[in-house]
Amino acid sequence: MIAGGAGYIGSHTVAELLGKVPDGEIVVADNLETGHKEAVLGGKLYVGDLRDDEFMERVFRENDIEEVIDFAAYSLVGESMTAPLKYYANNVGATLNLLKHMEKSGAKRIVFSSTAAVYGEPEQTPILESSPCVPTNSYGQTKLAVEGMLKWADVAHGIKYTSLRYFNAAGAHESGKIGEVHNPETHLIPLVLQTANGQREKLSIFGNDYPTPDGTCVRDYIHVTDLAAAHIAALKRMRERDESGVYNLGNGKGFSVDEVVNVCRDITGREIPTEICGRRQGDPAVLVASCEKATRDLGLEPRFGSLEKIVETAWNFHVNTQEVSV
Ligand code: UDP
Repeated sequence: MIAGGAGYIGSHTVAELLGKVPDGEIVVADNLETGHKEAVLGGKLYVGDLRDDEFMERVFRENDIEEVIDFAAYSLVGESMTAPLKYYANNVGATLNLLKHMEKSGAKRIVFSSTAAVYGEPEQTPILESSPCVPTNSYGQTKLAVEGMLKWADVAHGIKYTSLRYFNAAGAHESGKIGEVHNPETHLIPLVLQTANGQREKLSIFGNDYPTPDGTCVRDYIHVTDLAAAHIAALKRMRERDESGVYNLGNGKGFSVDEVVNVCRDITGREIPTEICGRRQGDPAVLVASCEKATRDLGLEPRFGSLEKIVETAWNFHVNTQEVSV
Protein backbone atom coordinates (compact mmCIF):
# COMPACT_ATOMS: atom_id res chain seq x y z
CA MET A 1 0.00 0.00 0.00
CA ILE A 2 1.30 3.40 -0.97
CA ALA A 3 -0.29 6.04 1.24
CA GLY A 4 -0.08 9.45 -0.42
CA GLY A 5 0.79 7.75 -3.72
CA ALA A 6 -0.72 10.56 -5.80
CA GLY A 7 1.78 13.12 -4.51
CA TYR A 8 5.18 14.06 -5.90
CA ILE A 9 7.45 11.40 -4.37
CA GLY A 10 4.61 8.89 -3.92
CA SER A 11 3.67 8.90 -7.59
CA HIS A 12 7.30 8.38 -8.63
CA THR A 13 7.51 5.44 -6.22
CA VAL A 14 4.38 3.91 -7.74
CA ALA A 15 5.98 4.37 -11.18
CA GLU A 16 9.17 2.68 -9.96
CA LEU A 17 7.23 -0.24 -8.43
CA LEU A 18 5.22 -0.82 -11.60
CA GLY A 19 8.02 -2.52 -13.45
CA LYS A 20 8.88 -4.66 -10.44
CA VAL A 21 5.65 -6.02 -8.99
CA PRO A 22 2.36 -6.92 -10.67
CA ASP A 23 0.05 -3.94 -11.06
CA GLY A 24 -2.67 -5.74 -9.07
CA GLU A 25 -0.46 -5.89 -6.00
CA ILE A 26 -0.14 -2.12 -5.66
CA VAL A 27 -2.78 -0.27 -3.66
CA VAL A 28 -2.67 3.52 -3.57
CA ALA A 29 -4.57 5.45 -0.89
CA ASP A 30 -4.74 9.22 -1.27
CA ASN A 31 -7.32 11.87 -0.36
CA LEU A 32 -6.21 13.92 -3.41
CA GLU A 33 -6.05 17.07 -1.29
CA THR A 34 -2.59 17.84 -2.59
CA GLY A 35 -2.09 14.79 -4.82
CA HIS A 36 -3.10 14.38 -8.46
CA LYS A 37 -5.16 11.45 -9.66
CA GLU A 38 -3.50 11.52 -13.09
CA ALA A 39 -0.06 11.17 -11.47
CA VAL A 40 -0.93 7.63 -10.35
CA LEU A 41 0.37 5.65 -13.32
CA GLY A 42 -0.85 2.24 -12.10
CA GLY A 43 -2.11 0.16 -9.19
CA LYS A 44 -5.52 0.38 -7.59
CA LEU A 45 -6.39 3.88 -6.37
CA TYR A 46 -8.57 4.38 -3.29
CA VAL A 47 -9.59 7.98 -2.70
CA GLY A 48 -10.04 8.76 0.98
CA ASP A 49 -8.44 10.01 4.15
CA LEU A 50 -6.15 7.86 6.29
CA ARG A 51 -7.87 9.28 9.36
CA ASP A 52 -11.24 7.93 8.23
CA ASP A 53 -11.74 4.55 9.94
CA GLU A 54 -14.45 3.37 7.57
CA PHE A 55 -12.21 4.13 4.59
CA MET A 56 -9.24 2.38 6.15
CA GLU A 57 -11.29 -0.67 7.08
CA ARG A 58 -12.40 -0.98 3.47
CA VAL A 59 -8.87 -0.67 2.08
CA PHE A 60 -7.49 -3.24 4.52
CA ARG A 61 -10.48 -5.57 4.10
CA GLU A 62 -10.37 -5.58 0.30
CA ASN A 63 -6.60 -6.06 0.08
CA ASP A 64 -4.11 -8.29 1.78
CA ILE A 65 -1.76 -5.49 2.80
CA GLU A 66 1.61 -6.73 3.98
CA GLU A 67 3.64 -3.56 3.82
CA VAL A 68 3.09 0.16 3.56
CA ILE A 69 5.05 3.10 2.19
CA ASP A 70 3.68 6.22 3.81
CA PHE A 71 4.00 9.59 2.05
CA ALA A 72 0.69 11.07 3.18
CA ALA A 73 1.42 14.44 4.79
CA TYR A 74 1.41 18.19 4.41
CA SER A 75 4.90 19.39 3.53
CA LEU A 76 5.03 23.17 3.31
CA VAL A 77 7.46 24.44 5.92
CA GLY A 78 6.13 28.02 5.83
CA GLU A 79 2.51 26.94 6.24
CA SER A 80 3.51 24.61 9.09
CA MET A 81 4.61 27.69 11.04
CA THR A 82 1.29 29.50 10.69
CA ALA A 83 -0.93 26.39 10.95
CA PRO A 84 0.93 23.95 13.23
CA LEU A 85 -2.25 22.28 14.52
CA LYS A 86 -3.33 21.51 10.97
CA TYR A 87 0.09 19.88 10.45
CA TYR A 88 -0.09 17.84 13.64
CA ALA A 89 -3.66 16.72 12.93
CA ASN A 90 -2.77 15.46 9.46
CA ASN A 91 0.87 14.42 9.67
CA VAL A 92 0.68 12.71 13.04
CA GLY A 93 -3.03 11.80 12.93
CA ALA A 94 -2.91 10.05 9.55
CA THR A 95 0.09 7.86 10.35
CA LEU A 96 -1.27 7.12 13.82
CA ASN A 97 -4.48 5.78 12.28
CA LEU A 98 -2.54 3.93 9.61
CA LEU A 99 -0.45 2.17 12.27
CA LYS A 100 -3.62 1.31 14.18
CA HIS A 101 -5.02 -0.44 11.11
CA MET A 102 -1.69 -2.09 10.33
CA GLU A 103 -1.56 -3.49 13.84
CA LYS A 104 -5.14 -4.73 13.59
CA SER A 105 -4.61 -6.45 10.25
CA GLY A 106 -1.14 -7.80 10.95
CA ALA A 107 0.76 -5.70 8.37
CA LYS A 108 4.35 -5.79 9.55
CA ARG A 109 6.47 -3.25 7.64
CA ILE A 110 6.33 0.47 6.94
CA VAL A 111 8.64 2.85 5.11
CA PHE A 112 8.08 6.37 6.38
CA SER A 113 8.67 9.58 4.51
CA SER A 114 10.71 11.71 6.92
CA THR A 115 12.81 14.79 6.32
CA ALA A 116 16.11 16.55 6.92
CA ALA A 117 13.98 19.16 8.71
CA VAL A 118 14.11 16.89 11.78
CA TYR A 119 17.71 18.07 12.33
CA GLY A 120 17.02 21.80 12.43
CA GLU A 121 20.15 23.97 12.32
CA PRO A 122 22.92 21.34 12.06
CA GLU A 123 25.96 21.41 14.32
CA GLN A 124 28.09 19.63 11.72
CA THR A 125 28.20 19.01 7.97
CA PRO A 126 27.64 16.49 6.46
CA ILE A 127 24.77 15.53 8.74
CA LEU A 128 24.82 12.02 10.20
CA GLU A 129 21.71 10.08 11.23
CA SER A 130 23.07 10.25 14.78
CA SER A 131 23.22 14.09 14.70
CA PRO A 132 20.92 15.83 17.20
CA CYS A 133 17.31 16.30 16.10
CA VAL A 134 16.16 19.79 17.03
CA PRO A 135 13.58 20.86 14.41
CA THR A 136 13.19 24.59 13.80
CA ASN A 137 9.76 24.29 12.18
CA SER A 138 6.58 22.45 13.03
CA TYR A 139 6.71 20.39 9.81
CA GLY A 140 9.99 18.79 10.95
CA GLN A 141 8.62 18.39 14.46
CA THR A 142 5.56 16.45 13.20
CA LYS A 143 7.85 14.09 11.26
CA LEU A 144 10.04 13.58 14.33
CA ALA A 145 6.90 12.86 16.38
CA VAL A 146 5.96 10.11 13.92
CA GLU A 147 9.48 8.68 14.04
CA GLY A 148 9.03 8.39 17.83
CA MET A 149 5.64 6.73 17.38
CA LEU A 150 7.13 4.22 14.92
CA LYS A 151 9.79 3.27 17.42
CA TRP A 152 7.23 2.40 20.08
CA ALA A 153 4.92 0.63 17.62
CA ASP A 154 7.90 -1.58 16.79
CA VAL A 155 8.65 -2.28 20.46
CA ALA A 156 5.03 -3.10 21.31
CA HIS A 157 3.65 -4.59 18.09
CA GLY A 158 6.71 -5.68 16.12
CA ILE A 159 5.87 -3.37 13.20
CA LYS A 160 9.26 -2.81 11.54
CA TYR A 161 9.91 0.63 10.08
CA THR A 162 12.43 2.49 7.97
CA SER A 163 12.41 6.28 8.29
CA LEU A 164 13.90 7.99 5.27
CA ARG A 165 15.04 11.52 5.94
CA TYR A 166 15.00 13.25 2.56
CA PHE A 167 17.14 16.22 1.80
CA ASN A 168 15.92 18.23 -1.23
CA ALA A 169 13.80 16.08 -3.52
CA ALA A 170 13.96 17.38 -7.09
CA GLY A 171 13.64 16.42 -10.75
CA ALA A 172 10.95 14.50 -12.61
CA HIS A 173 10.30 11.09 -14.11
CA GLU A 174 12.41 10.30 -17.18
CA SER A 175 9.25 9.81 -19.24
CA GLY A 176 8.22 13.42 -18.64
CA LYS A 177 4.76 12.16 -17.59
CA ILE A 178 4.99 13.03 -13.90
CA GLY A 179 6.95 15.62 -11.96
CA GLU A 180 6.78 18.24 -9.24
CA VAL A 181 3.48 20.13 -9.11
CA HIS A 182 2.69 21.96 -5.88
CA ASN A 183 0.07 24.60 -5.45
CA PRO A 184 1.29 27.08 -4.38
CA GLU A 185 4.80 26.23 -5.58
CA THR A 186 7.45 27.08 -3.00
CA HIS A 187 10.38 24.91 -4.08
CA LEU A 188 13.45 26.33 -5.70
CA ILE A 189 13.91 24.30 -8.91
CA PRO A 190 10.28 24.48 -10.16
CA LEU A 191 10.25 28.21 -9.37
CA VAL A 192 13.47 28.77 -11.31
CA LEU A 193 12.06 26.83 -14.27
CA GLN A 194 8.79 28.78 -14.16
CA THR A 195 10.92 31.92 -14.36
CA ALA A 196 12.89 30.43 -17.26
CA ASN A 197 9.70 29.85 -19.16
CA GLY A 198 8.23 33.29 -18.50
CA GLN A 199 5.50 32.25 -16.03
CA ARG A 200 7.28 34.37 -13.43
CA GLU A 201 9.05 37.63 -13.96
CA LYS A 202 12.01 36.86 -11.71
CA LEU A 203 13.25 34.49 -9.04
CA SER A 204 13.57 35.83 -5.51
CA ILE A 205 16.78 34.65 -3.87
CA PHE A 206 16.20 34.41 -0.13
CA GLY A 207 19.38 35.95 1.25
CA ASN A 208 22.96 36.30 -0.05
CA ASP A 209 24.61 36.99 3.29
CA TYR A 210 24.90 33.44 4.56
CA PRO A 211 28.30 32.06 5.61
CA THR A 212 28.66 30.09 2.34
CA PRO A 213 31.10 30.64 -0.58
CA ASP A 214 28.68 32.84 -2.58
CA GLY A 215 26.45 33.90 0.33
CA THR A 216 23.38 31.91 -0.80
CA CYS A 217 22.03 28.80 0.98
CA VAL A 218 23.50 25.41 0.17
CA ARG A 219 21.28 22.33 -0.19
CA ASP A 220 21.71 18.66 -1.16
CA TYR A 221 19.42 17.85 -4.11
CA ILE A 222 18.43 14.24 -4.80
CA HIS A 223 16.46 13.02 -7.80
CA VAL A 224 12.94 11.84 -7.03
CA THR A 225 13.46 8.55 -8.90
CA ASP A 226 16.55 7.83 -6.79
CA LEU A 227 14.43 8.52 -3.71
CA ALA A 228 11.75 6.16 -5.03
CA ALA A 229 14.32 3.40 -5.55
CA ALA A 230 15.55 3.82 -1.98
CA HIS A 231 12.02 3.14 -0.64
CA ILE A 232 11.89 -0.13 -2.52
CA ALA A 233 15.38 -1.06 -1.27
CA ALA A 234 14.26 -0.28 2.28
CA LEU A 235 11.30 -2.68 1.98
CA LYS A 236 13.58 -5.39 0.62
CA ARG A 237 16.01 -4.95 3.49
CA MET A 238 13.22 -5.13 6.07
CA ARG A 239 11.89 -8.32 4.49
CA GLU A 240 15.35 -9.88 4.60
CA ARG A 241 16.42 -8.73 8.04
CA ASP A 242 13.31 -7.86 10.02
CA GLU A 243 15.08 -4.75 11.30
CA SER A 244 14.03 -1.12 11.70
CA GLY A 245 16.28 1.79 10.72
CA VAL A 246 16.71 5.48 9.96
CA TYR A 247 18.51 6.80 6.86
CA ASN A 248 19.45 10.09 5.27
CA LEU A 249 18.72 10.31 1.56
CA GLY A 250 20.69 12.89 -0.38
CA ASN A 251 23.60 12.97 -2.82
CA GLY A 252 26.11 14.10 -0.23
CA LYS A 253 26.94 17.20 -2.34
CA GLY A 254 25.84 20.75 -1.67
CA PHE A 255 24.79 23.36 -4.27
CA SER A 256 24.08 27.00 -3.53
CA VAL A 257 20.95 28.77 -4.80
CA ASP A 258 23.19 30.72 -7.23
CA GLU A 259 24.69 27.48 -8.54
CA VAL A 260 21.22 25.99 -9.04
CA VAL A 261 20.11 29.05 -11.00
CA ASN A 262 23.24 28.88 -13.17
CA VAL A 263 22.73 25.19 -13.97
CA CYS A 264 19.10 26.01 -14.88
CA ARG A 265 20.35 28.78 -17.19
CA ASP A 266 22.69 26.29 -18.91
CA ILE A 267 20.07 23.59 -19.33
CA THR A 268 17.21 25.83 -20.47
CA GLY A 269 19.25 28.35 -22.44
CA ARG A 270 17.08 31.07 -20.83
CA GLU A 271 18.17 34.18 -19.03
CA ILE A 272 16.33 33.73 -15.67
CA PRO A 273 16.28 37.13 -13.95
CA THR A 274 16.83 37.08 -10.17
CA GLU A 275 16.55 39.54 -7.32
CA ILE A 276 18.05 39.31 -3.85
CA CYS A 277 15.46 39.36 -1.08
CA GLY A 278 15.64 38.96 2.68
CA ARG A 279 16.26 35.60 4.29
CA ARG A 280 13.36 33.18 4.64
CA GLN A 281 12.59 32.41 8.26
CA GLY A 282 13.97 29.11 9.51
CA ASP A 283 16.36 28.47 6.57
CA PRO A 284 19.65 26.91 7.75
CA ALA A 285 22.72 28.06 5.75
CA VAL A 286 23.92 24.59 4.73
CA LEU A 287 22.12 21.23 4.69
CA VAL A 288 24.16 18.37 3.25
CA ALA A 289 23.61 14.70 4.02
CA SER A 290 26.05 12.04 4.95
CA CYS A 291 24.74 9.19 2.77
CA GLU A 292 27.19 6.54 3.90
CA LYS A 293 24.62 4.57 5.85
CA ALA A 294 22.10 4.48 2.97
CA THR A 295 24.86 3.58 0.52
CA ARG A 296 26.02 0.72 2.75
CA ASP A 297 22.65 -0.70 3.82
CA LEU A 298 20.25 0.26 1.02
CA GLY A 299 22.73 0.22 -1.85
CA LEU A 300 21.85 3.85 -2.61
CA GLU A 301 23.54 4.57 -5.92
CA PRO A 302 22.00 7.61 -7.58
CA ARG A 303 21.12 7.16 -11.26
CA PHE A 304 20.62 10.91 -11.52
CA GLY A 305 23.46 12.02 -9.29
CA SER A 306 24.37 15.27 -11.04
CA LEU A 307 22.46 18.52 -10.66
CA GLU A 308 22.46 18.84 -14.47
CA LYS A 309 20.56 15.52 -14.81
CA ILE A 310 18.11 16.55 -12.10
CA VAL A 311 17.38 19.89 -13.78
CA GLU A 312 17.22 18.28 -17.23
CA THR A 313 14.43 15.91 -16.17
CA ALA A 314 12.57 18.71 -14.35
CA TRP A 315 12.76 20.93 -17.45
CA ASN A 316 11.66 18.08 -19.69
CA PHE A 317 8.55 17.63 -17.51
CA HIS A 318 7.97 21.36 -17.48
CA VAL A 319 8.15 21.59 -21.26
CA ASN A 320 5.91 18.54 -21.58
CA THR A 321 3.17 19.82 -19.33
CA GLN A 322 3.18 23.58 -19.71
CA GLU A 323 3.22 25.87 -22.62
CA VAL A 324 6.72 27.22 -22.78
CA SER A 325 7.10 30.73 -24.10
CA VAL A 326 9.90 31.31 -26.56
N1 UDP B 1 14.87 29.51 -2.25
C1 UDP B 1 15.05 30.78 -2.79
N2 UDP B 1 14.01 31.33 -3.49
C2 UDP B 1 12.81 30.70 -3.67
C3 UDP B 1 12.64 29.40 -3.11
C4 UDP B 1 13.70 28.85 -2.40
O1 UDP B 1 16.09 31.40 -2.67
O2 UDP B 1 11.91 31.27 -4.30
C5 UDP B 1 15.98 28.92 -1.49
C6 UDP B 1 15.63 28.57 -0.05
O3 UDP B 1 15.91 29.66 0.78
C7 UDP B 1 16.55 27.37 0.20
C8 UDP B 1 16.71 26.70 -1.17
O4 UDP B 1 16.29 27.68 -2.12
O5 UDP B 1 17.81 27.80 0.62
C9 UDP B 1 15.86 25.48 -1.33
O6 UDP B 1 14.55 25.81 -0.94
P1 UDP B 1 13.32 24.83 -1.14
O7 UDP B 1 12.09 25.54 -0.67
O8 UDP B 1 13.32 24.30 -2.53
O9 UDP B 1 13.65 23.60 -0.19
P2 UDP B 1 13.99 23.54 1.39
O10 UDP B 1 15.48 23.61 1.49
O11 UDP B 1 13.27 24.64 2.08
O12 UDP B 1 13.47 22.19 1.77
